[in-house]
Amino acid sequence: MRHSLSNTSAVYAFDKQNKPAIKVDPGDTVTIETYDCFTNQVKSETTELKSINWDEMNPATGPVFVNGAQPGDILKVTIDELKIGERGVMVTGPDLGVMGDHFDDFDVKIVPIQDDKAIFDENVQIPLNKMIGVIGVAPEEGSINCGTPGAHGGNMDTTLVTEGATLYFPVAAEGALFATGDFHAAMGDGEISVSGIEVPGEVTVTFDVIKGHSIKHPLLENEDGIAFLASAETLDEATKLATRDMIALLHPHTDLTLSHLTMLMSATGNAQISQVVDPLITARFFVPKYILNAYNISLFKD
Ligand code: CA
Ligand code: ZN
Repeated sequence: MRHSLSNTSAVYAFDKQNKPAIKVDPGDTVTIETYDCFTNQVKSETTELKSINWDEMNPATGPVFVNGAQPGDILKVTIDELKIGERGVMVTGPDLGVMGDHFDDFDVKIVPIQDDKAIFDENVQIPLNKMIGVIGVAPEEGSINCGTPGAHGGNMDTTLVTEGATLYFPVAAEGALFATGDFHAAMGDGEISVSGIEVPGEVTVTFDVIKGHSIKHPLLENEDGIAFLASAETLDEATKLATRDMIALLHPHTDLTLSHLTMLMSATGNAQISQVVDPLITARFFVPKYILNAYNISLFKD
């Protein structure tokens, strides 16, 4: 069945207590409309920091309750189509991002989107790499604001989260309580200014529930391979979490000793930076498809 959900069903935190905006069955497809990460409050390049309601940052549309999803299951989310608006916004400023100590003032730049390019200025047209910044499910404990990433997903700001990718989330609450927002027309790994080219948009996703398997962190699959996405206080710690989860996932499917699998991962896997600017840092460990094929691994099938 197909459903749609408008941006008026927005949450600012992932939380088991959030009331479902819609209930869907496994196999259903939902088209979800989103605001940009400022809840469309930045109207022009002269918008002042103090005029923005910072309680309305990073809205995520949802939550979507997926019938049958129980704690310990995996929620499978396939990103079928990602459409973005025509007006991008970028920001940086004091204490924001990698260069934050260089700035005295908050700076806003409007970046129009035209003909599949982001028009940065008269010299530079940026090819789009549309992607989703905030995507996740209710966490195990408490309320996690949509600006913070974690084992539940959230603000992972990962360039691979795009059309054609499939995400697997650890379910912690009945119905999983999926929500998404914070789309970018383009962003580089790291998101060093603290913003991508922020845009409103519309994503179409298909849900499924996987029983009998569990994961600790979000896993992403695309046509090139798979990656665990992990978030922690430091890049080192996030990288270690993502890498160890990957080795733990693959090991039972191989006939390799742990040391030989570690060598194989060292030769073929890539530790990559997702973002270094959010309250927790997100890293990923990516393994190419041919490794999965070599061991006949199809995810969560047996
Ligand atoms: Ca973000
Ligand atoms: Zn964003």
